Amino acid sequence: MDQKIPYKIYLTESEIPTQWYNVRADMKVKPAPLIHPGDGHALTLEEMNPIFCEELNKQELDNDTQWFEIPKPVQEFYRMYRPSPLVRAYFLEKALGTPAKIYYKFEGNNTSGSHKLNSSIAQAYYAKAQGLKGVTTETGAGQWGTALSMACSYFGLDCKVYMVKVSYEQKPFRREVMRTYGANVTPSPSMTTEVGKKILANHPGTTGSLGCAISEAVETAVKTPGYRYVLGSVLNQVLLHQSIIGLEVKKALDKYNIKPDILIGCLGGGSNFGGFASPFLGEMLRGEANYHLIGVEPASCPSFTRGKFAYDFCDTGMICPLAKMYTLGSQFIPSSNHAGGLRFHGISPILAQLYHDGYFEARAVEQTAVFEAAELFARAEGILPAPESSHAIRVAIDEANKCKLNGEEKTIVFNLSGTGYFDLVAYQQFNDGVMTDVIPSDEAIAEGLAKLPKVGNE
Ligand SMILES: *Cc1c(COP(=O)(O)O)cnc(C)c1O
Repeated sequence: MDQKIPYKIYLTESEIPTQWYNVRADMKVKPAPLIHPGDGHALTLEEMNPIFCEELNKQELDNDTQWFEIPKPVQEFYRMYRPSPLVRAYFLEKALGTPAKIYYKFEGNNTSGSHKLNSSIAQAYYAKAQGLKGVTTETGAGQWGTALSMACSYFGLDCKVYMVKVSYEQKPFRREVMRTYGANVTPSPSMTTEVGKKILANHPGTTGSLGCAISEAVETAVKTPGYRYVLGSVLNQVLLHQSIIGLEVKKALDKYNIKPDILIGCLGGGSNFGGFASPFLGEMLRGEANYHLIGVEPASCPSFTRGKFAYDFCDTGMICPLAKMYTLGSQFIPSSNHAGGLRFHGISPILAQLYHDGYFEARAVEQTAVFEAAELFARAEGILPAPESSHAIRVAIDEANKCKLNGEEKTIVFNLSGTGYFDLVAYQQFNDGVMTDVIPSDEAIAEGLAKLPKVGNE
């Protein structure tokens, strides 16, 4: 081991950032606004306030304020599990025999098991400060629902979670964690909402999707006095809160004078990659530095690499506002063989614009290759990674192997967004050798894209 760089680089508690960074402030071309699905006008604060929390709406619409003070109670909560370590992956480097220097930021060190707590605690704080009784949300794999349950229990808010039915059935333990924190968990689609009833009538026996659960959670928030809807990714405010990840990474690297060459994160709705990359993107946007940024998505749900930069619905029920993103269409549902997470059809409008403008590369990887990387990483570094995070590990390993071939000592930093303890069904498929790679055909992609709304796109 290199004596100068410790295995784990921790910041002290007093070094935890006290402000979030808003990358939009430095973007010359701002992300496209959320628009009304009826006539395409940009949503106003007044229109958003009945659905989402007021202070969060202000953050959502603010393209200019560069730094936001993190409220004191949120800073205090962050101290429970932050700063998260930046780890020099000495053991992985050794296993690969690469001259590259690899680091990872580990966001799985809390009960929710992922970075999602960074935003849920902020969102619960603003809901409480507004005097609300509770919030509603959807959860797919369950990490966001867990993170929100923890945050709501901390601030004494009621939490109603619509959990995609297939996950509800396959991941009963996730559900129990949420219930332990006091959340009310309903499998979606359900008979508790009009949209749920409609989806069930049209698709009897469906096991649900994230898009449907969103529709149900929004409907419930709007119908129930004192409730608002909150979302764990995609939105501008979520990227803002997740900038805590990148700000800590930057501070820790600066402490040891480390200059990264390649920065990697996985892409679901874009919040962990966006938050991790924000301060570095900021430097690029201001012309101060240059990095090779890589966002990694599953080949079975390839929004960036095969989708279209267009306005689309975020939900299957088509009741939510439209966001401009790289999308495969709101009706695109990844194959049920896909076990590796990151199955949402859409992406953060901030990242969509930055990708469109050439600030980062997107790469699609197949799930068996992702689990091979996860296994190698678990055996070398000890942490059992989330399948989502393992997309980033895959590309970090690929880049480190390129360095080995070319004899290059590049510095690679990736975000390890969470742990995989609730993803053991997927690991089981991999260990049993029955995992398959499913790549949608050009026809399936074209079919999804043909159903994009006209509003905003002509
Ligand atoms: C939710 C989740 C993701 C994907 O969501 P993003 O908003 O793109 O970050 C990635 N990794 C883990 C561990 C997650 O829980």
